[in-house]
Amino acid sequence: MYCLFPSASLCGIASMSFEQGHGLQTSSKLVLGAQEADSFRNFKSPSELQQAHALLIKTRTSLRVLPLLRVASVCALTPSFSYAQQIFHHVEQREISMWNHCLRNFVESDSPWDAILLFHQMRRHNVFPDCFTCSFVLNACVKLLDVFHGRIVHAFVVKLGLQFNLVLQNAIVHLYACCGQMNDAALLFDKMPQRDVVTWNTMITQLMKKGDTESAYKMFVEMPERNLRSWTAMISGFAQCGKPKQAVDLFMKMEEVGLKPNEVTLVAVLAACADLGALDLGIRIHSYSDNRGFEGNIQICNTLIDMYIKCGSLKAAYDIFRGMKKRTVISWSAMIQGLAIHGKGNEALELFPEMIRSGMTPNEVTFVGILTACSHMGLISEGRAFFASMTRDYGIIPCIEHYGCMVDLLSRSGLLQEAYEFIKQMPIKPNAAVWGAILGGCKVHKNVEMAEVAMSHLQELDPKNDGYYIVLANIYSEAKRWDDAAKMRKFMRNSGLMKTLGCSSITVKGTVHEFVAGDESHPQSVEIYKMWNQLQVHMRLKGYQPNTSVVLLDMEEKEKEKLLSRHSEKLALAFSLINTQHGETIRIFKNLRICEDCHAAFKLISEIMRRKIVVRDRNRFHCFEDGSCSCMDYW
Ligand code: ZN
Ligand code: ZN
Repeated sequence: MYCLFPSASLCGIASMSFEQGHGLQTSSKLVLGAQEADSFRNFKSPSELQQAHALLIKTRTSLRVLPLLRVASVCALTPSFSYAQQIFHHVEQREISMWNHCLRNFVESDSPWDAILLFHQMRRHNVFPDCFTCSFVLNACVKLLDVFHGRIVHAFVVKLGLQFNLVLQNAIVHLYACCGQMNDAALLFDKMPQRDVVTWNTMITQLMKKGDTESAYKMFVEMPERNLRSWTAMISGFAQCGKPKQAVDLFMKMEEVGLKPNEVTLVAVLAACADLGALDLGIRIHSYSDNRGFEGNIQICNTLIDMYIKCGSLKAAYDIFRGMKKRTVISWSAMIQGLAIHGKGNEALELFPEMIRSGMTPNEVTFVGILTACSHMGLISEGRAFFASMTRDYGIIPCIEHYGCMVDLLSRSGLLQEAYEFIKQMPIKPNAAVWGAILGGCKVHKNVEMAEVAMSHLQELDPKNDGYYIVLANIYSEAKRWDDAAKMRKFMRNSGLMKTLGCSSITVKGTVHEFVAGDESHPQSVEIYKMWNQLQVHMRLKGYQPNTSVVLLDMEEKEKEKLLSRHSEKLALAFSLINTQHGETIRIFKNLRICEDCHAAFKLISEIMRRKIVVRDRNRFHCFEDGSCSCMDYW
């Protein structure tokens, strides 16, 4: 007699053996009914398996009819592990392949931790792991970011003599890199006798994720062979690390070497275009992706909407949005936010009920857009209503951005005291953006005292941001408190805070031209200043008076006017009027908030020159046309 199952005795089949069923396979076929056949296939626990086993013995059926993968998965994490082992031995099945199947299923399921448990179980029962075992368990460790068990598997790999297996080596490098153990990853990488493109890609992807663009780029240059993944990792990395220019440059190089971008590459480079405001390239990539069959791709459409909005082309964004057959909450939120920052608050608010009607549930981002729309339009009661509805109707707990929008809304409308009370009652700690919003309101409504309160908090929360000091200094200047303004400037100088230089950029015929305040370095500098002087003559005829209160310094009026006329956005505008065709929309990007004087000047110029001028400043878009701005002078 062959061995008896110790656990088989539990269900009263102690006297039965494997051999009985196995030997009489052919004659048993008639004995099993459909119901019985089901019962030995659909067992869900070790005890049900035992019942099936008993039935097979009773009907003299071979154990081979048992679904062995099910045997493995039912027993894997239970004390019946050895029972399953015996079944595998009996039917002459290599048990390792069964457990590996099981491991892979666990890794792919929502509970990769089970894979690690099974690995321990296998070790306890002396199942010798092979390279697949190690690879699956390593995958589980990556999913769990479990470097502890990863190291155990790594030790096994060495013990089993598998340390030259490239796939395993890659998996281990990947594990260390994902778990933030970049030094260990690099150490292993350096020691590897052989590497492939996967190894290099792992390293550059993870370096990029850590924001180490320099090392990643160095590796990218060094690597002997690059595939689409390598290029995409670099382009997305640059785009995500705030280096959109490098992302775009690399994308161009990738095109030169003849590689075709995939969806991920396109999304990354479009995001970079959005950051740069590179509309021309964005349009080119748009038509390229349409030609490549990505026209209906939701993710690409969402990125295109974002790109067009950030490049100041609201209409193009809207056309894409309307053309989408299926939209996600991201599409709706992006469009609402886009309309809001472009000064189309009413249209943003109209889109919201349409979104709800289409069956979409708004999320946090949608409400940031909605509240931004209310804030930019000065719609106080609507803003309050949406803020309340957010939690009441949609269960969304307001986060700091929403509070920031509300403070912005109240401050802009001059309800500074109420904004201050609102901040004091916030359940979360107000951040610099919240106090910055109240400071902005103090500037518009000329409230020096509240500005000083806001500043005392800002000095603590964001001491290195020179923008706030400048706003306060401007508030002092406007109140003609020159001493305080001078003190502010002195403080900034002494604490090493230099005023961020105003910088505006504009793309003409594919080339980006940058201007800083007072710039004389441009080859066309003489013509630019001449153009500006001519414009000023026309503007003065229409009643333009330089608004010197925005100049920080206590100096002669004439000097202030000169300083004012050299603001970077004015230089960029004069330059583009010289170098573009009549009728072309002018798009200027500015790193700071546009000042009151430039704003007034641009309105007049849009009328005098019959040009549409779009300015993206740090906070929003201004679309100047026929003498007025889309922000309705409320920014
Ligand atoms: Zn200005
Ligand atoms: Zn405006």
